Amino acid sequence: MTTIRATCPTCGDVELKPAELRLMVCTRPEWSTYAFTCPTCTDEVKKPADEEVVALLISGGVVAQPWHIPAEALESHDGPSLTYDDLLDFALWLDAHDALAADVAPAGRS
Ligand SMILES: [Zn+2]
Repeated sequence: MTTIRATCPTCGDVELKPAELRLMVCTRPEWSTYAFTCPTCTDEVKKPADEEVVALLISGGVVAQPWHIPAEALESHDGPSLTYDDLLDFALWLDAHDALAADVAPAGRS
């Protein structure tokens, strides 16, 4: 049985079975990660997995879980960031539209 040595930031080196590791392989390689629950302290440990680590873990029997970044997450955005005032204005706008929707809804429907 393959044993994989990983490092917990608290406990140091720990040995794991392949099924105890979760490997998330992203469409952007720099966002791939692996994670495990430390068998000593039970903390969840998550670390970046470069292409070499991904290859090593897969060769050790860890099942890779692919994940895709939504295209929206990679869009560049211009303009100022939203502020708390923007959020409050939006909440007030939504509140006004809820009242409007209730006014125009047919009777008996909420
Ligand atoms: Zn630990």
